[in-house]
Amino acid sequence: MAYLEIRNLKKEYRDFTLSISLSVDEGEFLCVIGPSGSGKSTLLSIIAGLEEADGGTITLAGHDITHSRIQERGIGMVFQDFALFPSMNVSRNIEFGMKEKDKARRKEITADLLRLVGLEGYGKRSVNSLSGGEAQRVQLARAIASEPRILLLDEPLSALDAPMRKNIRNAVRAIHDSLGITMIYVTHDREEAFSISDSILLMKDGQAEARGSAEDLYRNPPSLFSAFFTGEGTALPAHLIFENMEGSVFFRPEEAAIAEEELDPSLYTMHVIFSGCEVISCEFMGTGYMLGLSYRGYPLLCQSATKPRRRTVSVMILRTCLRNLQ
Ligand code: ADP
Repeated sequence: MAYLEIRNLKKEYRDFTLSISLSVDEGEFLCVIGPSGSGKSTLLSIIAGLEEADGGTITLAGHDITHSRIQERGIGMVFQDFALFPSMNVSRNIEFGMKEKDKARRKEITADLLRLVGLEGYGKRSVNSLSGGEAQRVQLARAIASEPRILLLDEPLSALDAPMRKNIRNAVRAIHDSLGITMIYVTHDREEAFSISDSILLMKDGQAEARGSAEDLYRNPPSLFSAFFTGEGTALPAHLIFENMEGSVFFRPEEAAIAEEELDPSLYTMHVIFSGCEVISCEFMGTGYMLGLSYRGYPLLCQSATKPRRRTVSVMILRTCLRNLQ
């Protein structure tokens, strides 16, 4: 049995059903991504005990916590709208989670945690004087102070600006690596999930659509939905290219190469050639150009190191890069 084992978890709202099974290993950093309304927060709330499941079981570190009270689950939480106690200073906020420890030990751990989250010397500060990023760091320290079996983070950085998000997400990952805490981190930001996770759960309509490492999901998406949720790409009706094939073929922009001359398909047995593609858009990306093309009325997205000089180009792509997806 995995460290966190969720079996046949069910939650029914009027227009929404969560139905999911999930295993998380000890020390794993799992990111949960998916469109708004796919059930990410509901899943986390049920694990935390903020919501009661309608069915299924949750086992954490060998304990069945399905019906345990919140404080008995051993779960730490960092949620976007979980406020700090405004009447207490930074240290007291962090110490709050360590009531059973003696005072000297609490002070020692608090100092360590402040250092860990990059807020050394902030202990006496009023929490009202903190920036959004600093307040999230204090929340993080407070959640870790209680030595949770698992730490749940629900969009903890969504109220912060981009540089701050990057800064704190790196701190979260560093804390994970130094303490080895199992973490589940919900975000709607694919790049954030790609940059910090060990593995990713992609949710759709209350169910698990895909699960794997970022590389896995990007390279081998199990569905068109996963393919587009994890990056850009082109989907074409499969029968356009392969007779008798159903569904779509999908490829990533960087898997295509463009040629400004006509290509003779008979010379490229390993490739599929799309001739006569009209260049619709050409966006400079720093590392190259992202081309929006039209092939027989179908949109194609291709990356190119150079800016095409012609309005019409050919696109070649290795047959092995074409994934047949539904
Ligand atoms: P996400 O976190 O992926 O955006 P949520 O888990 O917040 O999705 O919500 C999933 C669905 O469940 C949404 O359609 C939402 O309206 C619905 N939902 C969430 N909480 C409740 C509730 N307490 N009562 C009724 N519907 C809810």
